[in-house]
Amino acid sequence: MPSRKRFLGGTLAAAGTAAALALATAVPAAAAAPSTVEQDVAQLYQDVTDLYNGLPANAVRGVDRLIESPVPRIGPRSRAAQGPIPGCTEGSLLTYANKLASQLTPLEGQALDALSALGQLYVQGVASDKTPQVFGTDGQYTARATDTIGKLRGFWDIESWNIQLVAWKGTDLGSQAKMAQTFSLGLAPSKVKDAAALATKVLYEVPGLQGGRNPLLTLNAFAAPADSLGGKRVALGDGLLDTVNLLGFDDVSVESVVGHEYGHQVDFAHDNHPRNESSEMGPDAYGGYFVAHAKGYAWDARTQQEVTYLDASIGDCYHSHGTPDQRKAAGAWGEKQATSQDNPNRVVPSAKMIEKFQKVYPKLMPPADQPAAALAAAHG
Ligand SMILES: [Zn+2]
Repeated sequence: MPSRKRFLGGTLAAAGTAAALALATAVPAAAAAPSTVEQDVAQLYQDVTDLYNGLPANAVRGVDRLIESPVPRIGPRSRAAQGPIPGCTEGSLLTYANKLASQLTPLEGQALDALSALGQLYVQGVASDKTPQVFGTDGQYTARATDTIGKLRGFWDIESWNIQLVAWKGTDLGSQAKMAQTFSLGLAPSKVKDAAALATKVLYEVPGLQGGRNPLLTLNAFAAPADSLGGKRVALGDGLLDTVNLLGFDDVSVESVVGHEYGHQVDFAHDNHPRNESSEMGPDAYGGYFVAHAKGYAWDARTQQEVTYLDASIGDCYHSHGTPDQRKAAGAWGEKQATSQDNPNRVVPSAKMIEKFQKVYPKLMPPADQPAAALAAAHG
C-alpha cells in the first residue's frame, strides 16, 4: 500500500503496533464496553489518515511549512533529502522541537501526530480571517501580527488583499464544531460527527496534550498557495511563537516569521518554485529585506542580526530547507539590499528581487554545503 506508507511516514511501525494491540484487546470485549485510550488514539489516527486520503488532489500541494516538524507525520512530507550534510549542526529551534518530541510516549506521539495534522487542516481549510484572529496563547501577539500583515500587503507588489493571515491554535482542537467542519473536508459524511467527538475526547484524555496547549501541536507556520484548500494564506502557530520566545528571539518573532511566509507568497505569485535550497533561502532574503527596509520595519543593525540568528535556528542539515549557515546568509543578504540602497524608500519590484536572489544564491552556500550537481554547474 504505497499511498498509506507515504501518509503514515515515520510512524507506520508505531501505528501498526497500536492497531495490533487494539485488535487483540477488542476480541473478547462486548460492543458496549468503553474504549481504552489506546483504542481512541488508534481510531483517531485512522480517521485523520482517511481524512487526508479523502482530500481533493490539490488540497495540500505547495503548502510550505516553516520547519519539517518532528510531529506532523500525516500528510505529504518534504521531498526526500539526500542524507545529512557532514559537519552541519541543525538549528537551535529544530533541536529544541526534537527534544520535546523525544520526551513523548509512543501513545502521546501518535495522538500528537493525529491532532497536529488535523489542526493544520483546520487552519488551512476552515479558519478564516473574517473572524478576528487571536495570535499567541493569551493574544499577546495579535497587535504585532495585524501590523505585520498590513505592512507586508503594502510592501510587495503582488496581489495581496486575498492573502489571509490566520492563527494556528491548539485549543481549536477542543471545539467539536470546528473539528466536524475539518473532517467534512475529506471524511465520509456518516463518520464526521463521531470523528469530531473523538478528536476532542483524545485532546483531553491524553494528559501530555495539555488540552491543546502542548507547543508541539502548533510548533510551525506555513504559507499556502491560491489553488490549495482554503486559498492563499499564511498560518502562524502559537506553539512556534512560544518556542521562539523561549529561545530568546521574541522581539523579532512575528515580523520575521510572517515576513518569511509572505515571501513564499511572493514566490507563488511569480510561479517561482525552485527545487533546491533557494526555495527556503529566498523567503529568508525577502523577509530580511522587509524588516530592514525603511518602508518595512527599518530595524537597526543589532535587530537585523537577531533576525538572521532566528533564520539560522530553523536551518536543517539536508539539501532541502537550507542549513543554518545558508539561511543566516540569505537573511543577511536581504537586509543588506535594504540598507545599501541609494534611495532607502524605494522597494525593489518583487520579480526583480527574485531574479537578484536567484543569481546570488549559489554564492551564499559555503562550498562544503553544495550538492555535487550545484558545484558542477557553478564550474561548468
Ligand atoms: Zn519557508
